[in-house]
Amino acid sequence: MTDEFDEFEFATRAVRAGQRRTAEGEHSEPIFPTSSFVFGSAAEAAARFSGEQPGNIYSRFTNPTVSTFEQRLASMEGAERCVATASGMSAILATCIGLLESGDHIVSSRSIFGTTTILFNTWLAKLGIETTFVELSDLDGWAQAIRPNTRLLFAETPSNPLTELVDIAALAELARAKGVLLAVDNCFCTPALQQPLALGADIVIHSATKYIDGQGRCMGGAVCGSEELVGDKVYGFLRTAGPTLSAFNAWVFLKGLETLAIRMQAHCNNAQQLAEWLEQQPAVKKVYYPGLQSHPQHALAKQQQSGFGGIVSFELNGGKAEGWKLIDATRMLSITANLGDAKTTITHPATTTHGRLSDEERARAGISDGLIRVAVGLEAIEDIKADLARGM
Ligand SMILES: *Cc1c(COP(=O)(O)O)cnc(C)c1O
Repeated sequence: MTDEFDEFEFATRAVRAGQRRTAEGEHSEPIFPTSSFVFGSAAEAAARFSGEQPGNIYSRFTNPTVSTFEQRLASMEGAERCVATASGMSAILATCIGLLESGDHIVSSRSIFGTTTILFNTWLAKLGIETTFVELSDLDGWAQAIRPNTRLLFAETPSNPLTELVDIAALAELARAKGVLLAVDNCFCTPALQQPLALGADIVIHSATKYIDGQGRCMGGAVCGSEELVGDKVYGFLRTAGPTLSAFNAWVFLKGLETLAIRMQAHCNNAQQLAEWLEQQPAVKKVYYPGLQSHPQHALAKQQQSGFGGIVSFELNGGKAEGWKLIDATRMLSITANLGDAKTTITHPATTTHGRLSDEERARAGISDGLIRVAVGLEAIEDIKADLARGM
């Protein structure tokens, strides 16, 4: 997909890429809530179906609002092609089914979105696709886990909730040397803060449900990469299997992309201030945020990200009782597991997002009973601090 705005700056592409005005001359992008498209004649219908003539047929295949969103996100990620999906999970599923065969092997970082772990361990395993989990930042661990049948490396950076990073360029070099593909779940940074394809990754995956929406309204996802991998294989599966993004959700995400860069900057500013404040609280043992000097990978974060993100985690001196007390003492923060919202959300990972892990698995993932995750929103930082201070 080439776009007339491809040569423009990022902020301009975020606002303008992908739009094709109709004869009505609308300024804002239109929503096309239609399941099918009509043809001028039987011959035209035949030409569309055979692929001789490009154009819309049915919204499981293409829809103009969805196509505009795909083209805009492709432009922002620097991808040849983007395909949209009904959720982040269906983006990951479509990537795996589109690119892998039964008998193939995945190497994945351990601390990934919990449902992705279940997808790999339960559903892909059932199809004969096995996954080995490694520590995100340990490049030797990745190298050692690669086998002759490994086809895909899968990483989420920074990790949730402990904000650990992997050096994407180094991991991409390893993938190339071993002849395997590298997919990066870029949900936490978004293209506004990190562009994995430019660092050598083959595939970028999004849950658009998070920062791309930005206000916690719609479910959606996307896969970005080359025409061959994404346009051919991933889209090939999607148009058949059908986890299609709705035109309405695509429109909400398009509007989200227009303000993504300034919102991410505001999330980063608030998160940085909160992390620095938390480091000074006597009730807090440790703060995890890549923007802190104390973060072990602060230098790497500065190098591969243009901002440090909106997720801040911290460990209290106490355990579960103190963690729950802090959460229950808040009056403004939302007690919910979603993130990437204008509203700040607070979670106790050990009993929610990571509650299904065994004690040993949780310990290995570094999720202690006193750990709290805050997805910092866009409210006034003083109000966010005051709300957290109540229960400390
Ligand atoms: C939420 C999330 C997903 C899954 O996306 P859904 O839109 O909920 O299906 C995948 N990866 C990360 C990092 C997420 O935060």
